[in-house]
Amino acid sequence: MFRLTEYMRQLIDPSSVRAKRGSGPVKPVVIWNLTRRCNLKCRHCYTVSADVNFPGELSHQQAMDTLEDLGRFKIPALILSGGEPLDRKDLFQIATRARQLVRMLALSTNGTKIHGEAADRIAEIGFDYVGISLDGIGATNDWFRGVEGAFSDALRGVRECKKRGIKVGLRFCLTEGTHHHLPDLLKLCDDEGVDKFYLSHLVYAGRGDKHRGEDAAHRRTRHALDLLLDRAWVAVAEDAPLDIVTGNNDADAGYFLQWVARNFDADRVAHLREHLAAWGGNSSGLGVANIDNLGRVHPDTYWSDYTIGNVKTAPFSELWTGEDPMLAMLRTRPRPLKGRCGSCTLRDVCGGNTRIRALQLTGDPWAEDPACYLSDAEIGVTSTERLAVKPFRGKRHDPAHQFF
Ligand code: SF4
Repeated sequence: MFRLTEYMRQLIDPSSVRAKRGSGPVKPVVIWNLTRRCNLKCRHCYTVSADVNFPGELSHQQAMDTLEDLGRFKIPALILSGGEPLDRKDLFQIATRARQLVRMLALSTNGTKIHGEAADRIAEIGFDYVGISLDGIGATNDWFRGVEGAFSDALRGVRECKKRGIKVGLRFCLTEGTHHHLPDLLKLCDDEGVDKFYLSHLVYAGRGDKHRGEDAAHRRTRHALDLLLDRAWVAVAEDAPLDIVTGNNDADAGYFLQWVARNFDADRVAHLREHLAAWGGNSSGLGVANIDNLGRVHPDTYWSDYTIGNVKTAPFSELWTGEDPMLAMLRTRPRPLKGRCGSCTLRDVCGGNTRIRALQLTGDPWAEDPACYLSDAEIGVTSTERLAVKPFRGKRHDPAHQFF
């Protein structure tokens, strides 16, 4: 995740650079898909969720045991997700105990079930943050999310959270079908007093891979980033609250650096670059981890085809600190990137971006990320042929097979 507003604040109030990630033991932010069940049918859903029960999900006791282990392991943050996490009957019991065990507790939800008693419980538990997904205004959101009325129900969820003083964010997936709604969504944030805006780029995993032909064209992505940069600067310069973050395209950090270079002096550019290099871009397998609904542990949410182990048979802390070869590979710095990413002068800042996209398109997890929208000049390479995003043909690449 690229914290645009936070890094932008460095331009006004510079702070010292922290140690580079990977230079010490890293405790990951854990995204836990508590259930795969969901009442919506989103086109980008990486878990391919549906409104049915999925066999083999963690029992209540298995979930509680896992939670105790996460607490002892002192993970910095836990994001309870799904499917739709509110479809899990013991969500509030899990969240109540999680609140005692982890520093930062978030809920990632489609928002449609947040009202009445559910909203009260969320407020009582004291989540630090509730992220609600909206992929456009009105009918566009409903088309993208596959259910009529999803927009108004999710917006009710936003309002119910705000009424109870819960910090709430909107999550938006940028595609060819949704990009034109970005200005309206930013306005909606302002109108509703939303605290945070998360722009997610499309990842070619689950239904997101099936619909990868709908990924935003590079020029649209650049335009979207221009809007976010403008809005983030208003927030920082005028203290207008809206925290803006982006996810799943670490080239955003490089685009931000170009913006800084156009608007600020060389010292500030150098300062920001140091901060961004310390962050290091893509964090799969290092600063982020995923536990799926069946208890399988993955390097991040989009790596469902590669499993490190299962919390039903081994604690998460043991799996994460073990000798898994894929984790070792993903934690390598610098990563053995190829093609455009391999020659890029910004790869220390970007970390090579999202490896699953490279894998799904080429079968090679170290190939260039096709969603990088930076020009050759911006990344300091001479003219190269770009990898085209071909429509999904039903073939998925097995990461383990390709890596080892
Ligand atoms: S070329 Fe690759 S490493 Fe460089 S900014 Fe783009 S995605 Fe990142």
